[in-house]
Amino acid sequence: MFINTHTHLQLYDAKIELVNLHVDSTEKANLYSYGLHPWYLDKETYEAQLGKLEVIAHEKRCIAIGECGLDKLSKVDFDFQEKVFVEQIKIANKINKPLIIHCVKAFNELINCLNLNDNKVPVIVHGFNNNENIARVMVNEGYYFSFGKALLGYESNAAKAIKNVGRKNFFLETDDADLSIKYVYRKAAEILGVDEEIIKQQIQSNFETVFKMQL
Ligand SMILES: [Zn+2]
Repeated sequence: MFINTHTHLQLYDAKIELVNLHVDSTEKANLYSYGLHPWYLDKETYEAQLGKLEVIAHEKRCIAIGECGLDKLSKVDFDFQEKVFVEQIKIANKINKPLIIHCVKAFNELINCLNLNDNKVPVIVHGFNNNENIARVMVNEGYYFSFGKALLGYESNAAKAIKNVGRKNFFLETDDADLSIKYVYRKAAEILGVDEEIIKQQIQSNFETVFKMQL
């Protein structure tokens, strides 16, 4: 089966699609995640949104918190980003659901926030396309990776990282790209030099472990 671990649109081409929804969205999907993205934080509304998140995160079909995280390229004040991220780490740990992470140029700060707040839930760094050193540090922290369209680029960081992170540590996604997850699977199989069936079984097993589900 195909599993799309992070998408903003329902594409209906995978058995499992984990659809990222905004807390104010009235849309529903079979499985979804809710979170406050570091690009769209607002000092006027964040408290209400966090309050809402704390309630709706309990929904059975909401299986992860996120995407949330830190982004040095965001116009939002960085200290404020950290504050809102920490609140989301706390919510995820209170209800024991994994975190889907958006992180740009702030990996040290990300690790600090998670460790200082005694994070115990699985961490999935989505859209990973960073260098080997960062990948290694993340592997040592026990984080998971979700790779998407960057895999399609020639000799991308993502393509190098997927070979090094270990088969039990990764997922595949389409994020906001208008792309079939099937192409991402095909490309991952090609890069890793294995049959696509192996990738399917591995990701299914990873998904079952991280989300405590039997598929
Ligand atoms: Zn996304």
